[in-house]
Amino acid sequence: MNPDDELRAVATEVRTCQACKLHQSRKNAVPGEGPVTSELMFIGEGPGFHENEQGRPFVGAAGKYLEELLAGIGLRREQVFIGNVVKCRPPGNRDPLPEEIQACAAYLERQIQAIQPRVIVTLGRFSMARFFPTSRISDIHGQARMLNGRLVVAMYHPAAALHQPSLRREIEADFAQLPALIQRAAPAAPADPEAAEPPQQLNLF
Ligand code: URA
Ligand code: SF4
Repeated sequence: MNPDDELRAVATEVRTCQACKLHQSRKNAVPGEGPVTSELMFIGEGPGFHENEQGRPFVGAAGKYLEELLAGIGLRREQVFIGNVVKCRPPGNRDPLPEEIQACAAYLERQIQAIQPRVIVTLGRFSMARFFPTSRISDIHGQARMLNGRLVVAMYHPAAALHQPSLRREIEADFAQLPALIQRAAPAAPADPEAAEPPQQLNLF
């Protein structure tokens, strides 16, 4: 299947999925959204109240803050893919359970495979754990790590950072570094300038 069709297929399956108990209390599943050509992918935790109402990711207060953080580096949300570890809202915004994350993991994996982003930014502990299961977010936030040919950067969750000035400073500093990290993730120019194709730029900036 071509990547665009695959991304749509994931969204269609997610909307009617009953693979874990979260389907019982959801109003709308939230598959995630953004261009299949996104070079940058953000992965949050799971839908909250507003996301469950609208079926779209990051549309509440945390989403507004995420949009501000993106604007700070010259990006609009339409230019990136925004998704979550679990696609249905945990009741009362409780933490997702291990079995729910497990049940939903294949959808996230298929989204990553379809999009093939150059850089993945995890937002919060649960999406960090998908890539760095033994790390602590306070130790590794803002650090770019190469995993299977792409950069993965863990960051604090914007909902947490929004209300905690110390974390807010950290997430803003981590975002400020993203443009440079993304440029670094572009393939290096070939060594022989004669044979060189023009160095490939990410089309974000
Ligand atoms: N918080 C998340 O982790 N994801 C959303 O989609 C919204 C808020
Ligand atoms: Fe299915 Fe994921 Fe929703 Fe659980 S959270 S019902 S696995 S889409």
